[in-house]
Amino acid sequence: MKASAIVPSAGSGRRIQKSLKAVLPKPYLEIGGMPVLARTLKNLEDVPEILEIVVACDLRYRPMILKMARLHGITKLKGVVQGGKTRTDSVFRAFCRTNRNIPYVLVHDGVRPFLTSQTISRFLRRVKNSGHDAWAVGRLMVPTVKEVKKGIIVRTVDRTSLWEIETPQVFKRETLTKAYREFHRAPFVATDDASLVEHMGKPVKVFEIRENNMKITTPENLLTARKILESGETRTGWGEDCHRLEPGRPLYLAGVRIPSPWGAKGHSDGDVILHAVVDALLGAVGAGDIGEHFPDTDKRFKGADSRIFIKKALSLAGRAGFGILNVDTTVILQKPKLGAFKGKMRARLAVLLGLPGDAVGVKAKTAEGLGAEGRGEAVTAHAVVTLKRRNS
Ligand code: MG
Repeated sequence: MKASAIVPSAGSGRRIQKSLKAVLPKPYLEIGGMPVLARTLKNLEDVPEILEIVVACDLRYRPMILKMARLHGITKLKGVVQGGKTRTDSVFRAFCRTNRNIPYVLVHDGVRPFLTSQTISRFLRRVKNSGHDAWAVGRLMVPTVKEVKKGIIVRTVDRTSLWEIETPQVFKRETLTKAYREFHRAPFVATDDASLVEHMGKPVKVFEIRENNMKITTPENLLTARKILESGETRTGWGEDCHRLEPGRPLYLAGVRIPSPWGAKGHSDGDVILHAVVDALLGAVGAGDIGEHFPDTDKRFKGADSRIFIKKALSLAGRAGFGILNVDTTVILQKPKLGAFKGKMRARLAVLLGLPGDAVGVKAKTAEGLGAEGRGEAVTAHAVVTLKRRNS
């Protein structure tokens, strides 16, 4: 199925502006380092079924929206139109800008930035397989609802059949065209778009959603949204590396050259601490392992300074949306003793990873004479990293 998306974003949100002393209306305020509207548009952009997006807003903000689109890779933005006096009017103006050959029209509030593209796409697939002309998402009413007059409860409303209806709402194009024709013939006050179809006596199918689809209407909503995003997701990654030791080779650990009669054999500089950290970084974001990115059959990596592997792994983690919080490592080497170099190794690793010193651990152990490390045949390192999702 193919759909045009309409995003009404004309509400002025004066309440929020006043209470937060903000200069901009709510769709343009930032949550987690990105404007509310940009998040909503980005989610729509990533829905494969959506071919174009039209925003209805106060045209004063058009340049901001175009900039948002450029900055966040929103390529499907087809138009930004002047919003009307009411929501219904705004949606209609945007509707007129959509491509008539696209059979479905989806309307989604600009201030609902949380619904993911996957959920929207799933909703559209359900729409496609259902036999109606109009669809909305919603959830069963949870709070107790009462009718109150002059501050006194008049009655308790039976909530078993009450639903909160949200957006997205989807319409067959010809259904929405007809609904608007009817509406313009006999206008009424509609708070959403499904109302227009209901008004014609046509069924609107409701699909239940459970995902967060908060509408940012009040200052409290905005603060909650910020908290949700800023709490951030964390990830743990683990890595280990072992190299054979050979006399006469340089020994590098955490980017520090250690005076030693033997060093690690390897295609690169054989820095086991850095290699373990690289694997931990890659592992935390599901980006494979060091061998996939820097194969030892590749001539480019012969004798390579392992710090370039760290830079690449950090950038891959960054591209996946994560930044590093801390790292802890242990190196196992029988000889030479590393005690005198631990401080330097820790400092080097901190600079390399852009971390404060107290977020970096470098611990050194001997193997008590046991195993390959104990016999002085190998050097081994283990690393654990914690990553946090960035709020942008
Ligand atoms: Mg290695």
